[in-house]
Amino acid sequence: MDTSGSQQLFDDWDDISDSEFLNIPSEQQSLGKIYHLSSDSAGQHSSPCASTSLVHNRNEETLEQVRGLKRKSLHENSFSPMQRFFKRHLSVTLLCDQSWCEVKTVYSLLKPFVKRKDMQHAEVQIGKQIHLSREREIQEVVPVDTWTREDAEAIRLLNMLHMTSLLEAGERVREFPVFGVTEGVFIKGVVDELMYNQKGELVLNELKTRKQNSLPSSAQDKVNCLQVGLYKLLFDGLVRGEVKKDHVLTHLKLRSGQVLGAGVQAHAKSIGVLVTTFEELVDALLITVSCSDLPCIDLLQIEYYHQGSNGPIGTRVAPFDEAQLRAELQGYLAYWRGQREPRGVDIEEAWKCKSCLYEQTCDWKKNRLKVSDQQAAHASS
Ligand code: SF4
Repeated sequence: MDTSGSQQLFDDWDDISDSEFLNIPSEQQSLGKIYHLSSDSAGQHSSPCASTSLVHNRNEETLEQVRGLKRKSLHENSFSPMQRFFKRHLSVTLLCDQSWCEVKTVYSLLKPFVKRKDMQHAEVQIGKQIHLSREREIQEVVPVDTWTREDAEAIRLLNMLHMTSLLEAGERVREFPVFGVTEGVFIKGVVDELMYNQKGELVLNELKTRKQNSLPSSAQDKVNCLQVGLYKLLFDGLVRGEVKKDHVLTHLKLRSGQVLGAGVQAHAKSIGVLVTTFEELVDALLITVSCSDLPCIDLLQIEYYHQGSNGPIGTRVAPFDEAQLRAELQGYLAYWRGQREPRGVDIEEAWKCKSCLYEQTCDWKKNRLKVSDQQAAHASS
């Protein structure tokens, strides 16, 4: 499949996070991420998926340079973190990273090369391959040339449109994008799998591959429950019609009147969607999803899978308490809005630092050690 630099620039939707075996919930950028468009039935045969190719990456270098100027320290108060890191929206994976250790998330933005290197670990790559092969079981890639940001996003929306009709027909879909404004911030992510169970409930299934043939720690499980809970908030908002066209255009900074590329228009037509501009496509998607027969998600589950044996470890049903989830989210967003400083892990969770990429240089950890040394000295005097 063809991918391009521009996808790296535009695309931070990817929520495949397989780094649980490293105890580093990750915000993997979707280098080489494909866009799906399944159209065959019952998942018995692979079916066409759309992917993009040939888009521009001229802005990436400039953006990196500007970011470099801003990467000075953890605490820089003149801008909120949203402004400082040039974020118009957040991803579910980033929020999950933050719930593991907020300071670590900030370091990963200040020093992205460290994280990129870590993403080359064999375990991460194996996890990505397992996700990819699952996806290919029911979806086949169809390359589509894209030339603008609107084209790239259009492919994603077309895939959503197509998967919506598959889901309505009772089929299973994988890699379903979700987005929306939640607690005042545009958040986006990609759901691993949606399907109906025998009771007729709509089930969200999140695949987590692991190096160890065992269920994860409760700390990791908490992160995974947050992830699927956020997906549900976003998906439910879409089917309830709470996502508005302006949310998409404004928060993703996309041009409403941009005429879609010839390849994208042709692809849209091939699946029965007649649109010329990006705005028309956003309208078509939001109306289709909100007027569809799709219910809100009934059940959230996390499927743990062992990399070595290629076998299941176990499945966990995740609880969902909307009020509690929104309160937790507000706490994370307070950092991004610049309402408070980032927080590292407390002494009770100091074990997280042992597997942290930034352990040697982490100011939070150094300060924590200093404080506990002072307390010990005070107690013994
Ligand atoms: S060393 Fe510990 S406190 Fe510092 S970033 Fe890593 S996990 Fe967070």
